[in-house]
Amino acid sequence: MPFCPNCDKEFDHGVKVCDECGAQLLELDEDNTPYEENLSLVATFDEMYKAEMLVTNLESAGITAYILSQRDSVVTGLGNLAIVKVFVNNEDLDAAMEFIASLDNTTDEDNEE
Ligand SMILES: [Zn+2]
Repeated sequence: MPFCPNCDKEFDHGVKVCDECGAQLLELDEDNTPYEENLSLVATFDEMYKAEMLVTNLESAGITAYILSQRDSVVTGLGNLAIVKVFVNNEDLDAAMEFIASLDNTTDEDNEE
């Protein structure tokens, strides 16, 4: 289902732009990126592999994560940035944010003797 990132509104197949704000809709991969109201955005990437790395890390920590990408749709309004988004279940949001923060700290800790 296409949806508007600004309005959080879903549209029927074939719809390309939001009828509320005119933004380019994001196309969801129905197989593995369910977008539901109980999902929370935890990170946004400009490269798919970065998102996949985060998802792998999150899942190794027991947190289910989903990738949402609009790379297969025509991007006209959003530029090339922020096209890959990582979501987790709302109930995992705190744990996920904590985990992401700990990933950021990992390099510092590795430098300690
Ligand atoms: Zn909209």
